[in-house]
Order: sequence, then C-alpha cells, then structure tokens
Amino acid sequence: MNSIEKLVQIFSQFPGIGPRQARRFVYYLLTRANGTLEDLSLNIKNLKNDVVMCDNCKRFFEKKNSQLSVCRICSDETRDHSVLMLVQRDIDLESIEKNGSFNGIYFVLGGSVSILEKEPEKRIRIKELKIFLEKKIKEGLKEIILGVNWNPEGENTGDYVAKELKQITNNHNIKISHLGKGLSMGTELEYTDSETMKNALRNRG
Ligand SMILES: [Zn+2]
Repeated sequence: MNSIEKLVQIFSQFPGIGPRQARRFVYYLLTRANGTLEDLSLNIKNLKNDVVMCDNCKRFFEKKNSQLSVCRICSDETRDHSVLMLVQRDIDLESIEKNGSFNGIYFVLGGSVSILEKEPEKRIRIKELKIFLEKKIKEGLKEIILGVNWNPEGENTGDYVAKELKQITNNHNIKISHLGKGLSMGTELEYTDSETMKNALRNRG
C-alpha cells in the first residue's frame, strides 16, 4: 500500500471520520510546509511519552516529568471522595471539570454499551471499575453518579453498569443516582454548560 492510502486508512479509523474526509486530511497535509508536518509527528510521538493513564480513574493526564501514576483529581484531598461520577469518555470529564460544578471524583468507563451489544464487558472498563470500587468503599464511598449521556446508548450504558454493580451497591449501602434525570433528552455531557450541569447535579435521582 502506498503512503497516501496508508494514511487514509489510519485517519478513517478516527471517531466520526469517513474515508472521504480521511483523504481530504491527507491532501491537506501534503500542501503544508515540512516544518508543520515535523511538528505534527513530533507532537504525536510525545503524546505517548507525556501522557499516562491514571491508575485510579483511568483518565489520561500529562505526567510532566514526574513519576506520578495517579492524576491531580484523584490525589486532591480537598475533593469529596465519597461521591464518584462515572463518565463514558475523557472528554466528558474534561467538560464537567471545566465548568467546575462537581467536586467529587471520577471514573472513566472508556466507551459505551449499545443496545444490541453482545459483549458489553469488552466495551467499557467494568472489571477495572469493580476493582476501583473495592478500594474506594474502604475509604468511605457513599454515592455513585451515572454521568452518562442522556441518549439511548448512554442510558443503556448506565443501566448495564447499575445492574453489574447492584450486588456491590446493595451490600455496602451505596446510593446510585442518575445525572440524566436532570438533563433533557439527547443531551451530551461534552456540550453541557455550567448552569445545566449544576441543575443536573441538583436534580439527580
Ligand atoms: Zn485519576
């Protein structure tokens, strides 16, 4: 396969990008100066060196020369570690953090479970979540908020997680609440502003 086709194939695997858009990206890159491409490839290379996954919440964070394996949020003692919000993607966490309406901790599920999914355990980090919960329960976890998108796939993801955690939450008397109850249908957390998020948190049920 030639260089153009190879890159087209790579870009086609990006979320939301089809083969035609992928091809446009490649031709766009061909029109850029050499410096731009070198800069781009260097930044891509650095991504894996500079960014690691948090041992606790599984979000990606910049480790900036330190040997930290746990992110800033998880190691922040001023946050409320008794409330845990489950989100589908890093980008949801970032958006909630940006509007500053939540002071608990997070866990990134890393995907979603569609309604016809046969192997949901392969789509999200349910095993890792259970391990993380064991640890947080010992530290006094009281509530789990399903911070999933308020659309059919998000709802289904929330239902699956709630079902999987039922035994743990029942045994340890942990409340499971749903952020979606305070959002309107079709809401994606990524695009939720601070006021809407505050309302959703207040009205979670
Ligand atoms: Zn973390």
